[in-house]
Amino acid sequence: MMQINIAGLKDDGDFIVVSEDLRKPDLAELPGIEGVNSPLSVEVTITKTDKGFLVQGEFQIELQLICNRCLTSFKYQLAARIGDEYLPNWKEPAENELDELLNEPNIILRGNVLDISGLIEESILLAIPMKATCQEKCQGICPECGQVLNEKTCQCEIDKPDLRLAPLADLFKKQ
Ligand SMILES: [Zn+2]
Ligand SMILES: [Zn+2]
Repeated sequence: MMQINIAGLKDDGDFIVVSEDLRKPDLAELPGIEGVNSPLSVEVTITKTDKGFLVQGEFQIELQLICNRCLTSFKYQLAARIGDEYLPNWKEPAENELDELLNEPNIILRGNVLDISGLIEESILLAIPMKATCQEKCQGICPECGQVLNEKTCQCEIDKPDLRLAPLADLFKKQ
């Protein structure tokens, strides 16, 4: 939950900067995520505009991810920008309208309190890589013996001819 008191923002251009370390979000249910290693660190600037309130900032968190290729667990620094604008004519949806929320602003104003929890949550979900790999050139796992090939090579490639190169070998025989 991140709620910001905006009572002090009276004139257009007034702004406040807020930094907070929020408790670890519950992300371990998502595919590819093993755990969350750090608090969720958020810094946002709230600016009063002629229309409403502009929220701009960024978040950082360290995740423990599972490599999409070799299934090894690795640390991943997730950081991304967040931003949205609250317009006062937007009303909070009822519970049964939550499905329609996806394309709506996620910032909710109650009195002088701006609740940007939804915006942060959505920004994290968008920023998590779908197919994260432990390193750019992860070699994956040998489909024959299960060896993680980043650590050491296995014997499978040596014992068996590489099928991908077989047509090439035929070509050489013909010449
Ligand atoms: Zn990997
Ligand atoms: Zn192997």
